[in-house]
Formats: sequence, structure tokens, C-alpha cells
Amino acid sequence: MDYSVVIPLYNERDSLGPLHVELTRVMQSLGRAYELIFVDDGSVDGSIEALRKIKSADQNVRVISLARNSGQTAALACGFSHATGDVIIAMDADGQNDPADIPRLLAKLDEGYDLASGWRTERWQEERFTRRLPSMAANSLISAMTGVKLHDYGCTFKAYRRDLARSLQLYGEMHRFVPAIAAEQGARIAEVEIGFRPRRAGISKYGLWRIVRTLLDLITVKFLSGYSTAPIQVFGLIGIILGGLGGLWTFILVMEKILLGYELGRRPALLLAVLLVVVGVQFVSIGLLGEMLARTYHESQGKPIYVIREEF
Ligand code: UDP
Ligand code: MG
Repeated sequence: MDYSVVIPLYNERDSLGPLHVELTRVMQSLGRAYELIFVDDGSVDGSIEALRKIKSADQNVRVISLARNSGQTAALACGFSHATGDVIIAMDADGQNDPADIPRLLAKLDEGYDLASGWRTERWQEERFTRRLPSMAANSLISAMTGVKLHDYGCTFKAYRRDLARSLQLYGEMHRFVPAIAAEQGARIAEVEIGFRPRRAGISKYGLWRIVRTLLDLITVKFLSGYSTAPIQVFGLIGIILGGLGGLWTFILVMEKILLGYELGRRPALLLAVLLVVVGVQFVSIGLLGEMLARTYHESQGKPIYVIREEF
């Protein structure tokens, strides 16, 4: 198999038919073996019936139906693990991604990149302040935090080499951070400008909560990519700074009491200083616990702490 297109979908009944037609036209034109994997993420709007009809008329289609709505990331991961193509293309089911852009994503992989990621240049021309600014802010924040400079983190339209797609371990809403996680594995990443179209039918599955959830995931990604093999470096440092401050402060307060005779018992400062010491000790302990967990994590899965690109 040359190409696998993975399409997670949740309640997208009316978009599926037109998407299948467009996709088939593009994939046929490439003249290689391909499969279209629709991962139904627990739809309740009859998407499954629509898919059954599509499948019965096209041998290239595979349908995987999840038992319940598990989220876009899980659906994507499921598709990746079932894909048999050398190259895996992921895209949304709602028609916002134009299959006509697929050849350009593939061209990037031919240039030697491991991941070609879509960049929706024409998005939010209208809603400049409500959508475009927040989106630009989010992208620069994620770029800065992860150190992987991309313009468009939110775009799921991507082409991957299979080994890369398979080695990604995705949790939560992590599909938004695929480039950061991939870079962590040493992948070479390119961005490809793609068109942007309005959703064909149905409604978006995400609201404003997405911002908060993305932020939390960002912290996880940042931590895992930078310090997962050395948690004590993060927590220990915070602990030493806080504990050190607290210790120094307590010392000063005690000296004031002994040398200058200031009253100590009723000063709130004492409480704060001692609190800092306790918190400091706790941070160091969390770091140590983290170290133990990190070792269990890597050793139990036989997960090496490095990634080899090739051997001669
Ligand atoms: N999706 C999914 N499971 C979910 C939510 C979304 O499979 O729990 C799919 C959805 O059907 C679509 C893609 O993920 O194919 C992107 O979702 P959506 O278009 O709602 O996101 P937006 O384009 O608004 O960012
Ligand atoms: Mg969409």
C-alpha cells in the first residue's frame, strides 16, 4: 500500500459523500495504491449508514467505528495504527481541507521531510479580532514554548511517513501538538500552504473550552519534551529556590529575635517563611517521585531515551 488517508469524523453525515468523491478523484490521479480509512468516532447522526453506502461502492474504503465518542486525537491514533500505507495523510471530514492539496503535501515528503503540515493562509479573513488574533497568539505561544516554529498548529491536514505516525503516542487533545511531538522524535518538518474552505455541513465540535484545554496540553507537551527524563531538574530547581528563600528568611527572623529582641511569634512573616521552606521541600520530593516515575515509564515500556535516525 502506498497511501493511507485517515479521516476521523464525528457527526459529519452530509459531508462524507462529497468528500469521498473529491478524495477519490485526487487519489486516482496519483496512480498509486491507496486506502481511505474513515474512523467514525461514535457518531449518532447516521454517519455510519452513509459510510456503509460509500464502502459498498468502493473497495478502497475502510471504515472503523469506535464504540463511543473518544475525541479527535483518539480517532486519529486509531486510524494511524490501522493504516498500511507507506505514507499516511490525515484530514478532517467536514470539507474544510481540500483534497486537491494532497499532492503538494506529498511532494514535501518526496523532498525528504518526514512530516508535511498544512498551513491555512486564508483563514479568518473576516473575523479578524475574534478568531484571527487569538489563533495567531496561540500559534506564537506554542511555537515559542515548544521551540518548533510553525504558523498553523491547529491544522490537522498533514502527511506523515508511516513510521513517524506510528511512533507518535497521542493522548488527550495532543493532535494539536503533533509537530512538537514529532520534532521530539527528530522528525524533519515542513509547512505547506493550503487552501481553506468553510465547513460543508454540520457544526464545529469545539467551543471556547478548546483554549483552556490546549493550554493544559501545552504544559504537558513542554514538560514531556524537555524534562521527561529529568523531572528533578524542574521541580528540584523550583524547590531549591523557594526553600532557600524560606530558609534565609527564617534565619533572618530568628536572628532579629535573638540579637535585637523583636517579637517573633506574632509576625505573619514567620508563617510565610516557614511555608516557603515546606513548599520547597515538597517540590524537591515531587521531583524525586517524578524521577522514579520517569524510570518506570521508560523501563516498563522498553522505551529508549533516544531516537535513532539511521545506522550504517
Ligand atoms: N472530530 C472527531 N471526534 C470529536 C470531535 C471532532 O472525530 O470528538 C472530527 C470532526 O468530525 C472533524 C475533525 O475532527 O472531522 C475536526 O473537527 P471540527 O471540524 O469540529 O474542528 P474545527 O474545524 O472547528 O477546528
Ligand atoms: Mg472543521
